[in-house]
Amino acid sequence: FKRVELEPLPHMTLDFVKLLNDVCEQCYCDFAPDDVEVNVREHILQDFENFLRCQVPGAKLVLFGSSKNGFGFKQSDLDICMTLEGQDTAEGLDSMAVIESLTKALRKHHALRNILPITSAKVPIVKFYHTKTGLEGDISLYNTLALHNTELLASYAAIDIRVKILCYVMKVFAKVCDIGDASRGSLSSYAYTLMVLYFLQQRSPPVIPVLQEMYVGEEKPVVLVDGWDVHFFKDLKNLHKYWPEYKKNKESVGQLWFGLLQFYTEIFDFKETVICIRRKEPLTTFKKQWTSKHLAIEDPFDLSHNLGAGLSRRMASFILKAFINARSVFGTPVRGFPPEYSNKMEYF
Ligand code: ATP
Ligand code: MG
Repeated sequence: FKRVELEPLPHMTLDFVKLLNDVCEQCYCDFAPDDVEVNVREHILQDFENFLRCQVPGAKLVLFGSSKNGFGFKQSDLDICMTLEGQDTAEGLDSMAVIESLTKALRKHHALRNILPITSAKVPIVKFYHTKTGLEGDISLYNTLALHNTELLASYAAIDIRVKILCYVMKVFAKVCDIGDASRGSLSSYAYTLMVLYFLQQRSPPVIPVLQEMYVGEEKPVVLVDGWDVHFFKDLKNLHKYWPEYKKNKESVGQLWFGLLQFYTEIFDFKETVICIRRKEPLTTFKKQWTSKHLAIEDPFDLSHNLGAGLSRRMASFILKAFINARSVFGTPVRGFPPEYSNKMEYF
């Protein structure tokens, strides 16, 4: 990301900040699923598990991703992880054979279409389309770290409603600007969520703590999964006792959204710094040896994984331009939004 001249912005008015705030809150209300939709997902999962157990003995399914992390849309895909009872890790497992029997079994399910096994990916999956709900989804095998990062994101979402709202706004922004699809060369929603969390940790005063650095007792515990430390502070009810900056930040969501756009266009140095939510102290691209990448986003658990590694120079600059544009749009006071923007369907 090359630094470019940014246009100077007019003075923010209080009325406009209020309007921004309303837009952000409305975005959350429009896109967050209700309880019925959340329950439908659990029902589908249960139905799949009952069905699969007859064909793949010991199959256990869990939902993860945005169905569980607190940032799901009504139409978000169903991310399901499958494990086998009595087998703690994928070690020694014939993944291909399991994927094959899973594919065969799913093809017999009356509510599923387009069953497609993908075995070339790091984590093998079987994709499907659920006809009754119109939801797409996939079942992956032993995607254990993803279960942990889902729980980590859900914990951040539970700390402060502003976290949730901002992550929704960011995901909508990425969709509207067509920069939120990793399979088409841009970044995944997960990557954008990490960008929001990083900003909220670096804000002064911070909106959220660094849960992975917090612990009770003398020594930081280490919990290893697939060789990576997945420890983070889970006692959220007592967060105020262990985090001195609890509730110190009083900014509105509107202020924070504009602050985020300013942060990533005016302050943050993409060349030098890694977006890293596991520690407060800045991490350099030099230290990670990720200097050749245009954008570095470190996975909070799999520290060898840069979520920005697949970005081309063109795509990276397209993403930055979307942020620069958004900074101008959301940073230039208008009296009200034109009526054609009031219908959310216009976004898509
Ligand atoms: P959406 O609402 O767009 O589906 P999502 O968070 O579910 O959002 P997915 O792309 O469906 O995003 O990914 C599902 C989950 O898989 C993520 O929440 C995350 O836990 C994990 N995941 C996705 N991409 C990566 C990645 N590149 N590295 C590590 N984990 C990932
Ligand atoms: Mg998903």
